[in-house]
Amino acid sequence: MKQLKHVMRLITGLVVLGSLLALAACAEKQQAAAPAEAKVEKEAIVWKLAQTWGTGFPIFGDAVIKMADMVKEMSGGELEIRIDSANKHKAAFGILDMVNAGQYEMGHSASYYWKGKDPNTMFFSTMPFGMIAPEQYAWFYYGGGMELMKKVYDQHGVYSFPGGNTGNQMGGWFRKEINTLDDLNGLKMRIPGFAGEILSKLDVVVTNIAPGELYTALDRGTIDALEWVGPSLDLNMGFQKIAPYYYTGWHEPATELQFMVNQAAFDALPEHLQKILVIAMQYAAYDMYARSYHDSAVNWASIEEEYPDVKIRTLPPEIIAEMKRVNLELLAESAANDPVFKEILESQTAYMKMARKWTEISDYAYLKDNLE
Ligand code: CA
Repeated sequence: MKQLKHVMRLITGLVVLGSLLALAACAEKQQAAAPAEAKVEKEAIVWKLAQTWGTGFPIFGDAVIKMADMVKEMSGGELEIRIDSANKHKAAFGILDMVNAGQYEMGHSASYYWKGKDPNTMFFSTMPFGMIAPEQYAWFYYGGGMELMKKVYDQHGVYSFPGGNTGNQMGGWFRKEINTLDDLNGLKMRIPGFAGEILSKLDVVVTNIAPGELYTALDRGTIDALEWVGPSLDLNMGFQKIAPYYYTGWHEPATELQFMVNQAAFDALPEHLQKILVIAMQYAAYDMYARSYHDSAVNWASIEEEYPDVKIRTLPPEIIAEMKRVNLELLAESAANDPVFKEILESQTAYMKMARKWTEISDYAYLKDNLE
């Protein structure tokens, strides 16, 4: 019995020793691996991204952070993207130039901001009376949109990718109700882009004002109306406190933001990192659409409850018809001067015509009978 106990103690001792030896071997291996890991980190590719948005800008900025985090994680730290916001680079509307020049490898902005430099870029954000987000994503990825975007951005030395959708934007906040075309005459409104061009043909005095000054401008009557995004981002701006009429949208039915990558930098990346980057950008873009939808739903519920005097309005048919007429006229003018503009316009028009038939018998047919 005593002998058995001794043997058992010996065995336990051996097992403990074995474990200790295994642990030591492990530690040795880890020590040996440590310099190799440090070496990988040293060789990590570090890129810089310039965004149009300020630090902490919700939703838009979050999509960029999500993309960069995914890239770092999926690449095991091989590719790191550092984000500079507008506060730092001071060139909110210089992103395309900076990425083209290679000052930044990447950018996050919106394609229609480059309309002044190249009118063909505006098609890749959203168009007045154009496609809704599901139709537009279908066009981008399966209807020839990506190819046309590449054709346009090859002229500017960058690859452009969808960068997140706001969903249907609201037509804006108005201090007084709009009933006739005459009510638009002399109305001062902040509305940028092609929609602004349409409204100026209808005698609206169109201005663009920096986001930080919008509330004061509307409050003091410097402007009579403005559009921003929708409940997702409008709530925090506080417009519901000073303008009782919230109009439904027509001008930005599916605003898509934009990731851009310097072509030489992208081409020099190893293939697996190119794939990781493209997947992360596409995921972040879809994710921003879901996030925008969520925030708009939650924020609209809150506006409805806390500001019961806010009234939803849709511009009267007479005004919509006139805006559509002017829209087609302006598009035809540009198409006549530029074969690429014509090609993109025709692609979007034909695609929307086809996709809308499907939307009509699917989502639209379902929604019109199931709003409750
Ligand atoms: Ca807008």
